[in-house]
Amino acid sequence: MLITKNFTTDEMACSCCGKSDMDDEFMRILQSIRDEMQRPLKITSGFRCEEHNQRVSTTGKKGPHTFAKAADILISGADAMRLFTIAQKHGVSGVGMSQRGVHSKRFVHLDILSPDEGPRPTVWTY
Ligand SMILES: [Zn+2]
Repeated sequence: MLITKNFTTDEMACSCCGKSDMDDEFMRILQSIRDEMQRPLKITSGFRCEEHNQRVSTTGKKGPHTFAKAADILISGADAMRLFTIAQKHGVSGVGMSQRGVHSKRFVHLDILSPDEGPRPTVWTY
């Protein structure tokens, strides 16, 4: 099912349980970023249940993905640089850069947590 013009519930769903309950504001922003990028954005992680987040993230049971306000996007090089710039313009408050190793596995994490949900704005590397 489509959430926005270019993103489906399937691609945003938790990879362990299939739950997909993304935040409306985050999806609106993600679509705006997609529109300005003018290229497909391959999502490697969107919504995560608490159990899944605990398995894959240093943030434990709760984090940007369990709040349904985050996505990891497979992207590198010049496109990653463009994404970083465009994302800031659209109100993204958290950016995580995983840009080491083979280009095909590099990704950028985007989230819209507010300062009361975590130290924001911020940028980090993996
Ligand atoms: Zn799950």
